[in-house]
Amino acid sequence: MSIYSSKLGYQHYQEGEYQQAVSCFTKGLLFDWGCVDWLAHCYKHGYGVEQDLSMAKDLYSSCYNSSTCIQRRNSYFQGLRKQMDALQHIPDYQAITRYIDGIGNVRVVKSRNVIEPRMRCNQDEILVTVEDSQPFLLGISYALYYVPRSNSEWTCDGQNRYYDGYTLQTDHFRLQVQRGTTDSYVSQIDGELCQLFFPKNACLDYFYVQKFIHRKVKDLLFKRAKQVLPGVLRRVSERIKVPYEECEVVRTLYSYAARNYDQGKRIALSTTCLQLPKESLEALCIHELTHNFIGGHRAEFYHKLIELGGKEAYQLDKNLWKEDKWPYLQI
Ligand SMILES: [Zn+2]
Repeated sequence: MSIYSSKLGYQHYQEGEYQQAVSCFTKGLLFDWGCVDWLAHCYKHGYGVEQDLSMAKDLYSSCYNSSTCIQRRNSYFQGLRKQMDALQHIPDYQAITRYIDGIGNVRVVKSRNVIEPRMRCNQDEILVTVEDSQPFLLGISYALYYVPRSNSEWTCDGQNRYYDGYTLQTDHFRLQVQRGTTDSYVSQIDGELCQLFFPKNACLDYFYVQKFIHRKVKDLLFKRAKQVLPGVLRRVSERIKVPYEECEVVRTLYSYAARNYDQGKRIALSTTCLQLPKESLEALCIHELTHNFIGGHRAEFYHKLIELGGKEAYQLDKNLWKEDKWPYLQI
């Protein structure tokens, strides 16, 4: 989500394109705290948005309140403090309902007890709770980002959203998500076909339903990964004649898709690898097996990789991390 960062917003701001700037800052609230004070500035002066001093005050104070005591001594936070003090007489935001096109009424309530924004979909409004120190607008951004629009079509994309009849075909599995005939979730694997049936009355517009389906999909594909990945690694290892001791399929690996521990004692592959095209997955296996000889990713590592797997594997391995095309699902 880096395209919605404070940096891009600031570029627009400098060009005098205030509406685009505000839009970037608002969307960035969920990912980039640098947006908060910029947005405060825009609300205070009415740049790209109708002037709203309560909003400015809310944003300035959430920025200030999220800092540590030591940070508060530096000039940036002292500047924030001044901005807050100047708006002291402005009334606070409490629970305010805002209508969002395609979603409906969203009400944001501050609470001292939430770790992240939480959402409840009531019949005629969506209630979002944010922490005391978080800005009011964070709740709105959260709703904008996570609540599927009820009148526009949506599919499962980078945000992991599913619809009845969702199908994802890759080289190693065919995932089908559809409405079942019972009140519970049913999953089954038959060869490459991985099926998940969600309860017959489930409402897919609800974020928590989507989240639950996604959790079930993760479990299903983890099972499939355990069927597929060890075999691929074994075949590649035999082909390039580089042995290893143990292959482990794991749900996730912190910031890697695969990892080689102790020069081939154990090679871990995460479920995510299952989504790779056949050749790219093989290239990844070659990459990991190359680590039996060389740690790190210096030039000599790639020379060895080419020696073992050829130029094609090298190219595929390089593109693996360049292209953002996969994974389709964050599993
Ligand atoms: Zn590596």
